[in-house]
Amino acid sequence: MSCFLRIRCPSCGNEQLVYSHASRVVRCQICDEVLAEPTGGKVRIKGQVVYAFGKVREG
Ligand SMILES: [Zn+2]
Repeated sequence: MSCFLRIRCPSCGNEQLVYSHASRVVRCQICDEVLAEPTGGKVRIKGQVVYAFGKVREG
């Protein structure tokens, strides 16, 4: 199930919306830290998920 995640950058604290099934690496808009990596399915989260829109399972 796809959803949007609000992810906090572990490096600078910026919070950014990330699509749960993004097909490209998602980087922080502020410091260019990688926040999420594509896996072919749900992205692998590198930062801290502070909020999820819709159903999501972390891990
Ligand atoms: Zn950052």
